[in-house]
Amino acid sequence: MPSASLDEAREILRRTFGHAEFRGRQAEVIEEVLAGRSAMAVLPTGGGKSLCYQIPSLMRPGLGLVVSPLIALMTDQVAGLVQSGVAAARLDSNIEPWEKAQTWERIEAGELDMLYISPEGLMTSSVMDRLRRTPLALIAIDEAHCVSQWGHDFRPEYRMLGRLAEIFPDVPRLAVTATADARTRDDIRAELRLEDALEFVASFARPELALSAERKRGAGHKRVLELIEARPNRSGVVYAGSRDGVDKLAESLRAAGTHALAYHAGLDKNVRAERLETFLEAESAVMVATIAFGMGVDKPDVRFVIHADPPASIEAYWQEIGRAGRDGDPAEGITLYGAADMAWAYRRIDGREMDDTVKAVQRRKVGQFYAMMDGANCRAAAVRRYFGEEGVEPCGQCDLCLSPPESIDATQAAQKALSAVHRLGGRFGRGRLVEHLLGKTKEPSSFEAGLTTFGIGKEFSVNGWRDLLDQLLFDGLLKEDPNDGRPLIGLGDPEGVKAVYRGERRVGLRKAPEEHDPTTRSGKPRKRRETADIDPGDAALFEALRYWRAGEAKRQHVPPYVIFPDRTLIEVAQTKPGSLPRLAAVSGVGESKLARYGEAVIEVVKGFES
Ligand code: ADP
Ligand code: ZN
Repeated sequence: MPSASLDEAREILRRTFGHAEFRGRQAEVIEEVLAGRSAMAVLPTGGGKSLCYQIPSLMRPGLGLVVSPLIALMTDQVAGLVQSGVAAARLDSNIEPWEKAQTWERIEAGELDMLYISPEGLMTSSVMDRLRRTPLALIAIDEAHCVSQWGHDFRPEYRMLGRLAEIFPDVPRLAVTATADARTRDDIRAELRLEDALEFVASFARPELALSAERKRGAGHKRVLELIEARPNRSGVVYAGSRDGVDKLAESLRAAGTHALAYHAGLDKNVRAERLETFLEAESAVMVATIAFGMGVDKPDVRFVIHADPPASIEAYWQEIGRAGRDGDPAEGITLYGAADMAWAYRRIDGREMDDTVKAVQRRKVGQFYAMMDGANCRAAAVRRYFGEEGVEPCGQCDLCLSPPESIDATQAAQKALSAVHRLGGRFGRGRLVEHLLGKTKEPSSFEAGLTTFGIGKEFSVNGWRDLLDQLLFDGLLKEDPNDGRPLIGLGDPEGVKAVYRGERRVGLRKAPEEHDPTTRSGKPRKRRETADIDPGDAALFEALRYWRAGEAKRQHVPPYVIFPDRTLIEVAQTKPGSLPRLAAVSGVGESKLARYGEAVIEVVKGFES
């Protein structure tokens, strides 16, 4: 009976994981898998995807197999499961041979509940042979969008996973992902042979996330520093576009006195592991990283994500920004972007070895992303609509909701700019173009000085023209050729350009705020919500609990949140449980953690009362 087993699932949710109720669509997904049927679940980051396969793995006979693309992701999940008393292990290239042998012994003895493995590790013949002889509870495919060419993070090795359908016809398979638009979802089903599986798509709303974005202006490092300094005592991730960019940015942030760490694939493995550990265990640190740091970032108390360089799709944006606030407490996603970034994104796609159709898909994703960045309406709503949600309301907390940009009609100025670009034959970059419009070119050639567009743009300042040129780039009316770092500006979409010339298409220009608070786009200080709603009276106990947790984490060499998330410590500080049964009622305290840490936590609470 499905409802009876769902009761049992809830029991495990409480006992093992210490949560009172299922969230969002977890219960439905779990019920489907418990019935032995395959399914696909699209739940936003932080939505609790992992419980959807962890709980059925514990309930169904056999081993729960989890395919995951990243070692860091597996390490974290396995550490968390072991803390909760689940027999979990992982097989990846970092595991020593003796440990592998031990894991296989446990599997063969039927002692292991869950095994995490990479797709390429799984699909080797030796692993396959052994697993064929092992009863399996289910196969979960994490980050399932990696299988699709229509997704933003295609990984060819995921393609092999389609064969699991034939090899294990009786084992339910669960594909989970946080980011997949409708087309990608269809493709995942086709590739993974999940045609008949039910699809569970949750809302993409992330009410704890306040989004904002701003066009880059001049010195990027300085702006990133301002943003970080305005957010003291918090942990954050800063994404930069290249290894070199990461190193330089981290260095200049450190020089300015912030606790910044650099992380990218070019660093030595041990250095990387060490920095990751420092970041995970720190209460406040800033990880400056390329997206190589990507999916492994499972730190729940990341309070902000800053894109020093923007991603190239809404999927990537949502996934990266989504790494802030996984614990459900208020967090921020801030993106710096520019027309040059857009031009580079197009150029990178053109340079890749891919089908033209895939290139076209990716180019469209770039265009949609920048339209959202530079748009005038709620960002969160734009993202949710992009993922196919209907009836979406404005979020009320993104920069565009808080201060809708005023726009002025700039059609005439746009005509001047387009015609200057036309006359100059696309041979100039932005700076020279602005000088031309203002008539300020140093020693202009007689050809240039003779053009009717020379000096016709006195109505705007240099910055005004730069803004307008950016806008025309984002609108596709101009287009930038990166030209190896010395970008040239040419005319874009011919139909659009014609329509502007004829006055059939209006161009609105966002008015730049005059007085500018450096930490917000609107210029008005953002109303800051505190990390957690904790009473000043309970704050000291909360700090004491954090102190205890830090010691425990250090001793065991695990990140603090693996012991208890902030949420749980806050609840302890508020309710001050004086006995084990009372502590057990706190969300996040399961049986195993109660046994391990119960006495110690109560000790801290009591120490505080006296
Ligand atoms: P993701 O979907 O991003 O993989 P996770 O599975 O890591 O999310 O879960 C995110 C956080 O939410 C974790 O700290 C987890 O313990 C918590 N969580 C998951 N399900 C529940 C629930 N039903 N009630 C309370 N907390 C939950
Ligand atoms: Zn909004």
